[in-house]
Amino acid sequence: MPTPTPCPGTHNNAWRAAEAERQATGIDHDLKPVWGQPVHCPRCADRARSQLADLPELLAAIWLEALHGTRPKTTGTIGRSTTPSWPGQAARMITDHIIGGLIDFEDDIRDLRGLRPRVHHGQEGTNADRAITFLTAHLSWALECHPMAGEPHDRLSANPAAQIHHWHAAAQRFTRRDIRMDRYGMPCPRCELLSLYRTDGDDYIECRNLECGQLLTPGEYEEHCRAFAKERVHQTAA
Ligand SMILES: [Zn+2]
Ligand SMILES: [Zn+2]
Repeated sequence: MPTPTPCPGTHNNAWRAAEAERQATGIDHDLKPVWGQPVHCPRCADRARSQLADLPELLAAIWLEALHGTRPKTTGTIGRSTTPSWPGQAARMITDHIIGGLIDFEDDIRDLRGLRPRVHHGQEGTNADRAITFLTAHLSWALECHPMAGEPHDRLSANPAAQIHHWHAAAQRFTRRDIRMDRYGMPCPRCELLSLYRTDGDDYIECRNLECGQLLTPGEYEEHCRAFAKERVHQTAA
């Protein structure tokens, strides 16, 4: 059994920063990491699996946007300055980005595991489906044994789970599904910002503060609300 390491997920960012600080300055901290089993924690592993499973439907939704061109003007800050020069170009770009990434990822794992090279298919939808099927079958290996599996997640991380998260988030943003998100009223138990959200169909409530990324189950959120309320009652009573 390999020795567990702290999960590379964003929810351990605060712990990693505190550890770096401790090593540089000797100032101790009382943060505890969430341990991997043995590399990713079960929450991050489940999430990577369900986000990968969502990709075929998200890609189909992007293709539909390209065909019907119903997407309203981008209102976010990213990509606002680049106006697509022909209808469907934005959909084309994001499709290339995600499918290209999936195929590279499949090639990479085949290479690392000494498997037969991928059979190239002329149809990109078929290539994407095959890559997703392949990656699903090899995901447990990728989250544990890929050379980048332990790299902390961020937008540019080559960690397999971080890459899946990045494609999923990009596809959700494009199809405007990230708007179907409920904001939760309590401050995050870790960073104390009002940044807790739950995306439709997600099992977890997530802190959207990129420095934090705390994941809570609905039960833990309830527990947090109770503790928060109790603390306030004591404060007002004092
Ligand atoms: Zn994790
Ligand atoms: Zn937070």
